[in-house]
Amino acid sequence: MNRDGTAVRKSLPIELPARLRLANLPTPLQPLSRISERFSYPCGGPRIWVKRDDLTESGMSGNKLRKLEFVTAAATGQGCDTLITCGGIQSNHCRTTALVGARLGLQVQLLLRGGTSEEMDGNFLLDHLADASVAVYLAREYKEALSGLFQYWAEDYRSRGHRPFCIPTGASDGLGIWGYIEASRELMTDCLAYGFEPEHIVCATGSGGTQAGLTLGCHLLETGCKVTGYAVCDNAAYFQAKVREDIRHWCALVGEKIETDALAVCVNADYIGPGYAQAERPVYQTIAEVASLEGLLLDPVYTGKAFHGLLQDLNMGKYAGAKNLVFVHTGGQFALFPYRQHFSFLGD
Ligand SMILES: *Cc1c(COP(=O)(O)O)cnc(C)c1O
Repeated sequence: MNRDGTAVRKSLPIELPARLRLANLPTPLQPLSRISERFSYPCGGPRIWVKRDDLTESGMSGNKLRKLEFVTAAATGQGCDTLITCGGIQSNHCRTTALVGARLGLQVQLLLRGGTSEEMDGNFLLDHLADASVAVYLAREYKEALSGLFQYWAEDYRSRGHRPFCIPTGASDGLGIWGYIEASRELMTDCLAYGFEPEHIVCATGSGGTQAGLTLGCHLLETGCKVTGYAVCDNAAYFQAKVREDIRHWCALVGEKIETDALAVCVNADYIGPGYAQAERPVYQTIAEVASLEGLLLDPVYTGKAFHGLLQDLNMGKYAGAKNLVFVHTGGQFALFPYRQHFSFLGD
């Protein structure tokens, strides 16, 4: 039941746009019994569930594939033959785009933020296996020149007779968030099949699109469910604005009116740690603990950091009184390997 005491909508009140089916859906919804017993129930907290979006595909696994289903449909619908996108050197979004491009027969140009000599490891290795073209920029140049870099590469491809389609960081914009608007419908259907409506949905937030889609999806479905994004970079104010910006963009694209300022956007910025793609030892310990307790792989950049934050908040009783909480596992497992030296405590 939602806040008004009426049942949750089982379908979205608005039709989905064009979509290429790339992900294996629906992904499983699974209870984390041992995690719940050890970390949640002793503090009066809810049963913890995991929505396995790390299983959307194999190489293309993770949350970006749901967004790219809508983004690539728009790109090919416009007759584009090249995808240009950007991210960190170990970007899951770039790796997913590289493999999706290969699958669809599209060229892919990646603009990556990295160092002068990056090792062929993790996602960066997979970018090369997929034969994406890769341009690596130092952090300062990347940050200052990103929109110029997109323009430069788009023009470069056009001058060679191609039709490029630019995808923003994390495919987080009014088009990409369709992936998680539709995922919230799927998730509510999963939960209802188990006989509950969750009080909380939790995810890692890096570019905001997943949280924006889930927040908007839950709003459209008229659930009383609270969506919380655990930020892995930037700060709460940044994501408060970014999530609303993506939702406003979506409104402009579909011609809907939503009071974005009235929407509850819940960002937890307490567990960012040293910064993007940097985590302290407790995060690595949580990753090891979750792998050993549940056989579930988290990553140090996104899901491990967010799940670690969730466990701390459960321990502080922040979710006390709720019955069911769903953690959306957004993928990222390939980034475990480049961080291998941080797991030196294993075997101690
Ligand atoms: C990109 C990413 C996220 C964050 O999703 P956004 O929509 O960018 O906020 C979370 N987890 C993983 C594994 C990701 O690759």
